[in-house]
Amino acid sequence: MVEDILVEDGRVTGIRVRGDAIYRCAALILTTGTFLQAIMHTGEAKTQGGRAGEGTTGTVSDALNRLGFELARFKTGTPARLNGRTIDFNQLQRQPGDADPQPFSFMTDRIEQEQMECFLTDTNQHVHDLIRANLHRAPMYSGQINSTGPRYCPSIEDKVVRFSDKASHQIFLEPEGRRTHEIYCNGISTSLPRDVQDEMIHSIAGLEKAEIMRYGYAVEYDFAPPTQLSPTLETKKVAGLYFAGQINGTTGYEEAAGQGLIAGINAALKVDNRPEFILDRNQGYLGVLIDDLVTKGVDEPYRMFTSRAEYRLILRQDNADRRLTPLAIQLGIASAERIQRFEESVAQIERGQSYIKTTRYHGQTLEDWLRRPDYDWVKLCEMVPDVATLGLSERVIEQIEIDAMYSGYLKKQEKEIARYSKIHAVKIPSTFDYHALPQLRNEAKDKLSRIRPVTVGQAERVSGITPADLTVLLMYLDKAGKPSPESAT
Ligand SMILES: Cc1cc2nc3c(=O)[nH]c(=O)nc-3n(C[C@H](O)[C@H](O)[C@H](O)COP(=O)(O)OP(=O)(O)OC[C@H]3O[C@@H](n4cnc5c(N)ncnc54)[C@H](O)[C@@H]3O)c2cc1C
Repeated sequence: MVEDILVEDGRVTGIRVRGDAIYRCAALILTTGTFLQAIMHTGEAKTQGGRAGEGTTGTVSDALNRLGFELARFKTGTPARLNGRTIDFNQLQRQPGDADPQPFSFMTDRIEQEQMECFLTDTNQHVHDLIRANLHRAPMYSGQINSTGPRYCPSIEDKVVRFSDKASHQIFLEPEGRRTHEIYCNGISTSLPRDVQDEMIHSIAGLEKAEIMRYGYAVEYDFAPPTQLSPTLETKKVAGLYFAGQINGTTGYEEAAGQGLIAGINAALKVDNRPEFILDRNQGYLGVLIDDLVTKGVDEPYRMFTSRAEYRLILRQDNADRRLTPLAIQLGIASAERIQRFEESVAQIERGQSYIKTTRYHGQTLEDWLRRPDYDWVKLCEMVPDVATLGLSERVIEQIEIDAMYSGYLKKQEKEIARYSKIHAVKIPSTFDYHALPQLRNEAKDKLSRIRPVTVGQAERVSGITPADLTVLLMYLDKAGKPSPESAT
């Protein structure tokens, strides 16, 4: 259990754990999740801890306060877990998994594992009346919790209040694993007292006799507003100290894992004295996530959504390896097997694309045919049987189809990126004195001095920064990011 963070001359030097042992390090990544000064709430009952059955970490918050970090509080919650052997699944609608699930990883060709079913049920008027009658016992409404929770995973009490016209809300009953009977009730996260949770569950179709194995709860915890970080996730106050995951005000598994990856890469680069690694907003969702966090901060637990990315036509799941594997190769973190797979796939895409660009059918290239909404690779194979002999994998064929279909839009988006990226890439020195720019508005001086954007692009996204502020800023910076003496006079 880490109890303290050791810092000398503004650099992290180690940690002290319970029992007073000290571990020295050149870089430290703090990923405390929901555990900093955590309090769990179930109705009026409060327990210290970041997750059911686990403790809290107060002293790390003290250490962060002492080092001058600002901390704030968020809350999140979870539903009750039920004993699957006590649920009447016959009454419920089945939700089978995908017949042909698509693997997330480019290293997996097929998912052979048998998929487990989920089931669907609903809340009803009686459940809603029960919740309304007990709102005064719900920590969120009784004033016991004041911190903000995730907008996109509201508790059932929140849904009943905010969407009062709805007669029911869906509940997905999801198995927790292959070797457990525990069922997760997705959709009814709650911190109502146990007796209300019992009655609520037993009033839901299929759950009349369900046994609650673990009750739902809300958890309040400290997070560190992420404007205190640079885009590498290193803190601005302490060199070598990185924050990643829910401590930065995010919520979600992928958000946490992604930040861990970026912080890990940068911590390793720093220890090796190599240049830092920052993903741009047009290179990956992680670029969008981290830029949003460090530039704008958070006023509610942050979730990554495709709608947050202005370049989402380019940031597709299907082309993630083409966007990111070259960067991983550069950094030296792609395995030999990954590199080989990637190179094979790129070679296949090039072979397929060059074939359809140069082969004509009834006067038009195969690429033109593929652009038509009612044409796909299978049809091309019927029209020109040689296409089938190219030996392309399903994934590659999908890539070629998508590229052909969206090429017009993609080119437009790429042009837009190129137009802005020159200006956006202009670097701002970390010591840049905004207060020395007489034409800059006071609000802009304050905000830019606090956030310390590393590029003009990031400065543009700081909330409240106007195009006029940017023009002033650009006047004072030359392309190399050094203050430009001519323009300053
Ligand atoms: C109840 C609940 C339900 C959730 N449901 C979902 C969901 O369905 N889908 C989803 O995407 N996200 C969900 N989330 C959010 C998701 O779990 C978190 O956002 C994510 O796990 C955060 O990852 P993390 O690595 O930052 O922290 P965590 O996963 O919380 O890990 C923090 C770790 O740090 C350890 N730790 C803390 N302090 C110390 C210390 N001082 N010394 C040593 N170790 C320490 C803890 O023991 C813990 O293992 C849920 C969160 C909660 C609390």
